[in-house]
Amino acid sequence: MFMNADLENIIALQRLDSATHAAERRLAEEADREKALEARLTVARDTVTAAKERLADSQAARRNVEKDVALHQGRLSKFREQAMAVKTNQEYHAVQKEIDFAQTEMKAAEDKVLERMLEADDLTAAVKKAEAELASETKKVDADRKAMAAEFAELRSSLEQIRRERTAVVGSLSPQVMDIFERVAQRRNGVAVAEARDGVCTICHVRLRPQVFNTVRRNDQITQCDSCNRILYFVPLAAAPAAEPSPDQPQPPG
Ligand SMILES: [Zn+2]
Repeated sequence: MFMNADLENIIALQRLDSATHAAERRLAEEADREKALEARLTVARDTVTAAKERLADSQAARRNVEKDVALHQGRLSKFREQAMAVKTNQEYHAVQKEIDFAQTEMKAAEDKVLERMLEADDLTAAVKKAEAELASETKKVDADRKAMAAEFAELRSSLEQIRRERTAVVGSLSPQVMDIFERVAQRRNGVAVAEARDGVCTICHVRLRPQVFNTVRRNDQITQCDSCNRILYFVPLAAAPAAEPSPDQPQPPG
């Protein structure tokens, strides 16, 4: 089917501009996505740091109770020496009482050391687990970062390609039509072209006058929507898909 060359070019131009906007929106997310990757590593690193701190605290506490054990041991040997030198039964009982007391204290401290040793086993396992998770997260983030770099490199190169195509399209457009396109695009959020279907502008949804729709159906001239001013085109039922706008084309209201 014959289509007015300006109309064909204007549809191509809109497709290129919409693709540019979509690519630019994705490129604008680069910094945030990089931050999100870094945040995943920070969480994993913080988990390792916290696990190591818990282990270090537990080990410090164990050293303290070990000092207690040594202290009680010292007292115990002192009392045992005294027990050898006692002269009376009363003295013996007094020292024996001290020995019993020191033994109880020492036993309690030894139990605490044992508890800390068991706790250290769990905390060491937690450190190992956190370190393994950090290693695995680092690998995943590296892979995601590479994929992201490839994605953005592709976006940039497709933007270059779009720019070259756009220059060619703009070069073959009549300046008057280009002027209409630019003015409407500026006012309509970058979308200056709309398909007319079933007598309606598919973007602003306003019903076209029958006479306007009949003109649009012929695709042989530049016709603007009375309501949103977008340049209208018509896709016949059996038309090639090339005449349809890309699905990622933004369709803001109005
Ligand atoms: Zn409209």
